[in-house]
Amino acid sequence: MSVINLGIIGGGQLGSMLSIAAKKLDIKTVIYCDDINAPAQNFCNEFIFGKYNDKEKILEFINKVNIITYEFENIPYETLNEINKKKPVLPKPSINRVIQHRIAEKDFINKLNIRTTQYSLIEKKSDLDSLTDLLPGILKTTTMGYDGKGQYPVKEIKDIDRMNIDFSKGYILEKLVKLKKEISVIITRFGNNDYEIYEPIENIHEDQILKYSRIPAEISKNIFNQSKEWAVSIAEELKYIGTLCVEFFIDRNENLYVNEIAPRVHNSGHLTINAYNVSQFENHVRAVCSLSKIPIKKISNAKMVNLIGSQIKPYRQDMKLKDNEFFYDYLKKEIKDKRKMGHITTLIP
Ligand code: ADP
Ligand code: MG
Repeated sequence: MSVINLGIIGGGQLGSMLSIAAKKLDIKTVIYCDDINAPAQNFCNEFIFGKYNDKEKILEFINKVNIITYEFENIPYETLNEINKKKPVLPKPSINRVIQHRIAEKDFINKLNIRTTQYSLIEKKSDLDSLTDLLPGILKTTTMGYDGKGQYPVKEIKDIDRMNIDFSKGYILEKLVKLKKEISVIITRFGNNDYEIYEPIENIHEDQILKYSRIPAEISKNIFNQSKEWAVSIAEELKYIGTLCVEFFIDRNENLYVNEIAPRVHNSGHLTINAYNVSQFENHVRAVCSLSKIPIKKISNAKMVNLIGSQIKPYRQDMKLKDNEFFYDYLKKEIKDKRKMGHITTLIP
């Protein structure tokens, strides 16, 4: 068989883990990223540094690969669409366009009769006046947010006067869900009704950044089944190819809501590297490269802890790990507050 060259847009830790999974399958990876220090250059076969609107650089990238995928959703739709005219981009750019806009994403989910929190588009400050039933809420930028960036909790309308918000950017106001728990479901879809789905993962956020994930999630049978069913409906409706993550809220009355969809591999699925026979990363590569599907099997329960900012330091200094502990250093050059630097997965009985 001829060699497959997989192009990956984005060079963070997810790009690294996709490259590692590809290597195992004898697939070569070329990463395109707008960060000269992108950590994934340590793991891919070839790295191209360029801006996401640099047509020449992108053409150079396209010419080196057979298929293109991405590790984050905030790539301009026009860029993905242009690339897709020359080489297949998976998941399809049209999927990315829906999901990268919080309003389009929630409209899409509601059309499937799947619950989300209540929300409204905010284009100017006075739009908020009639929306007091969405308070307390969270004001979020409609695009480009991640790890809680671009989010402002709002208890009362007057809170907004104190914030210096440029409403021309486009915002969504979401009603705050009284959270009991957060879970996520990761699914890899290979084709019509052809998918592998991991069991729901329980997630704990600190400062709106994922801190801990674990399987099994402590949830009712109902929530277990419903979350998986909803993830399947979403993936099927999108005719998705690759790995997708659905993030859920469970409120204090045991209602399930979809929070958001990530059209990519996801931080909460890092534990699948050690806890399953096939990780979310390998499954993504298999699906987008049209390789055969292997039925997934859980090897062990597991928990994962994100190392954020300087929390990585002691682990870099020769920490002794137990046999059931797996440490990953993303090799980011600079330690920054709130930056995901690495993680540890522990297999548990
Ligand atoms: P990001 O794109 O940054 O991941 P999310 O919308 O997933 O943004 O928000 C990050 C975290 O903030 C969520 O996982 C949750 O803990 C909290 N959060 C966000 N929106 C709400 C909401 N409407 N109700 C309650 N908690 C929320
Ligand atoms: Mg999120």
